[in-house]
Amino acid sequence: MSMRQMTDIAAALIPDFDLTAHNTLALRARSRFGVMIDQPTLLPALFDHAAAQNLPVRVLGGGSNVVLAPEYDGITALLTLPGRKIIDQTIQGTLIEAAAGETWHDFVLWTVDQGLGGLENLALIPGTVGAAPVQNIGAYGAELADIFHSLSAYDRATGATLTFGKDECAFGYRDSIFKRHPNRYVVLAVRFALTATWTPNLGFAGLSDLAGSKEISPRTVMDRVIELRTSKLPDWRETPNAGSFFQNPIVTTTEAGPVLDDFPSAPCYPQPDGRAKLSAGWLIEKSGLKGYRLGPAGISERHALVLVNHGGAQQADIAALAGHIKQTVQTRFGIALHEEPIFL
Ligand SMILES: Cc1cc2nc3c(=O)[nH]c(=O)nc-3n(C[C@H](O)[C@H](O)[C@H](O)COP(=O)(O)OP(=O)(O)OC[C@H]3O[C@@H](n4cnc5c(N)ncnc54)[C@H](O)[C@@H]3O)c2cc1C
Repeated sequence: MSMRQMTDIAAALIPDFDLTAHNTLALRARSRFGVMIDQPTLLPALFDHAAAQNLPVRVLGGGSNVVLAPEYDGITALLTLPGRKIIDQTIQGTLIEAAAGETWHDFVLWTVDQGLGGLENLALIPGTVGAAPVQNIGAYGAELADIFHSLSAYDRATGATLTFGKDECAFGYRDSIFKRHPNRYVVLAVRFALTATWTPNLGFAGLSDLAGSKEISPRTVMDRVIELRTSKLPDWRETPNAGSFFQNPIVTTTEAGPVLDDFPSAPCYPQPDGRAKLSAGWLIEKSGLKGYRLGPAGISERHALVLVNHGGAQQADIAALAGHIKQTVQTRFGIALHEEPIFL
């Protein structure tokens, strides 16, 4: 590590960094230092500097899946690495790459503009490309793992840049190796393999009527996804939120029993392992909590799975509300809910 790079990173650190505008819940949050990482070569210098100063480092993308503490006594590194490109195009398909700091939705739009299909069901998910593999983002019957090829990540433990194939990422439902080892890897760039023969994924409610359409294309599917999401979810710019706050619980048929006994038509999706996925939003709504408020935090009137900041909320307010919801659903249905966003 050159002296020059160490000096550059020290100069780039912004003291008492305000993160209120860097998290979609708009929680009031500050970090002892903030720094924009717009090139991978800054990372070794950053971690060396932090180690020398005995400061912890955490990574943030768009702040759309986090519940930030009011104070962080360390360095918050905002990943802003730019760039997207087609790496290879053959008659079998297209390999594309985007850097971690790219906005996910802009990247989806770009693929559709290139006439490429595969990412359209994942349109309008907030945040960055780099965070997308962390929880294997998913929506409208698709998930990132479906079209994932590989990624490059900086290993904080060794300083090496590694390539992860699909198996090494250990993707699961809103899960990956990166979520399980939160302080180990910094995702730098993600690659996607899109097949030349595009097959629309229309299994999800709200998309199936497109199946008969002669005009069907990645763009028409994407436009429908955008329309559906806009009509269902509150806009985080107007009503600060972190999207779905709880994962849909995957339970045994015995655990699902009390729910289905009372409500035989409750949403319940069989899983390959014999278990069943229930709808967390439905459970919260049926527990009578839609629109519920606890101090400055609340549950959206529009969607029971979305927790919102009505103004001035802090991490503790969101945590208190989440605790109340979990306890209420547990008491009513005997089902445990687990938070999706990460408390940082
Ligand atoms: C309105 C709304 C709707 C949403 N809808 C969906 C949805 O449909 N499906 C879905 O799956 N999610 C959804 N989300 C959640 C969120 O958009 C995704 O999880 C997104 O991928 C988070 O990206 P981010 O850049 O904001 O990550 P952040 O919130 O900044 O970070 C999330 C986690 O990833 C880590 N991280 C961030 N960047 C990197 C990196 N480069 N390398 C390593 N770790 C990193 C952070 O440390 C943190 O632990 C929604 C959120 C909102 C606000």
